[in-house]
Amino acid sequence: MGVAWEQWPGGALWKSRWEELVKADRLPVAFLWVGPEGVGKTPIAITLTQTLLCTEGDGVLPCGQCGACAAMLTLSHPHLFLLPPLGGGKPLEEALVLFRERLSKDPFLSLVEWEEVLLGGKGTLSIGVEAVRKLQSWLTLAVPDRRWRVVLFWQAQLLTRQAANALLKVVEEPPEKTLFLFLSTRLEALPATLRSRCVVWRFPPLSAQQLQALAGQPPSAPLLTMAEGRYSRLKRLLAPEQEPYVQALRDWLRGLFRLEDPSRLRAAIETLLTAPRLPELLLMGISLVRAHPELSLAQKTWTIEALLHLADELEAHLNPPLLLWEATLRLQARLRESHPTLEGLLHEAVF
Ligand SMILES: [Zn+2]
Repeated sequence: MGVAWEQWPGGALWKSRWEELVKADRLPVAFLWVGPEGVGKTPIAITLTQTLLCTEGDGVLPCGQCGACAAMLTLSHPHLFLLPPLGGGKPLEEALVLFRERLSKDPFLSLVEWEEVLLGGKGTLSIGVEAVRKLQSWLTLAVPDRRWRVVLFWQAQLLTRQAANALLKVVEEPPEKTLFLFLSTRLEALPATLRSRCVVWRFPPLSAQQLQALAGQPPSAPLLTMAEGRYSRLKRLLAPEQEPYVQALRDWLRGLFRLEDPSRLRAAIETLLTAPRLPELLLMGISLVRAHPELSLAQKTWTIEALLHLADELEAHLNPPLLLWEATLRLQARLRESHPTLEGLLHEAVF
C-alpha cells in the first residue's frame, strides 16, 4: 500500500514536476504553493513530505511500508515540523495534537474548520513569531543519518510580518537537507524577500470531474457553481445538515428578483438566520450570482456588493435579522428599479 500521488487532483502533474527536480538534483530550499483553499495543496504537500522522509523509496514514490511512511499516516513523523495558524493563546504543542488528528483524517481541512476545532468558532488565527522561534530551536537538533526534514507552513498567508522577518534569516541560511513548504492562498501575503527564496507552484481550481471524483457522487449544478473549484467548499455544501441552508440561500436570491410569494422569501430569511456561519454561506452565494446567465453586469455588481457588505456586517455580530431584512429590501428595490419587468424572466433552476 503506497501513497500514490495520483489519488489527489493534479497528482500526476505534481509528481512529474517533482520528479524533474529530483532527477536534475535541483531540489529547492523552499516551495511556495499558491492557490485557493481546497484545491489540493495540502494533500500534495503531505505526499511530497512522505516521499522525502520515506527510508525505502526512490525519492519520487514513497514505499508506503516503512516506519517513516507509517508515521506520516498520523503526521507524527519527528522530521516533520507543522506550523498551522494559532490563536486564543493555545500553545503550539497542544494545538498540534488537534491539528495532526484532524488533518490526517481530512487533508482538505479548511481554515474555518480549523478555527472551529481550535477556538470553537470566533477568533483570529495567525502564524506568529513564537512558533517560528520554536522552529528555529527545532532546526538546531541533530539529525541522524543525514535524513531529510520538512517544515510545513499551512495557511502561510497568515504569517505575521514579524514571523516572516524572523523566518527570512532561517531560509537565507538554510540548514542542509531541510525543505520549507509554504502553502498560501495568496502570493503577495509573503514578503518579497521571502518569496524570492521560494520555487512557486500555482494550484488551479479543480475541475467538475475532479470535484466529483473526490466527492464520490455527482453534485448538483448549483453546488458545483458555489464550490468554485474548491473541494473544501463542496465538502461543506454536501454535508446533509447544510441542505436546508443552501436551499434557503437559493430561495432568498430568487426572492430578491421576484415579487410573488413573499412568504417563501420570509421563510428563507428565517432559515438563513439559523444557519451556522451565515457570512460564509452568503459569500458562496456570490458564485451563483456571478454565474447567472440572465442578470446584467450592473445587477450582478449590486447583488455581489450587497452580499459582501452583508457578510462583513454579520461578521461584526450586529443585529442579524435587522441586517438581513434591510439588505433584502434595499437590494430588492434597487434591482426592480433597474429592470421593472425582470420578474418571471429568471428561471427557477438557476439559483
Ligand atoms: Zn516508506
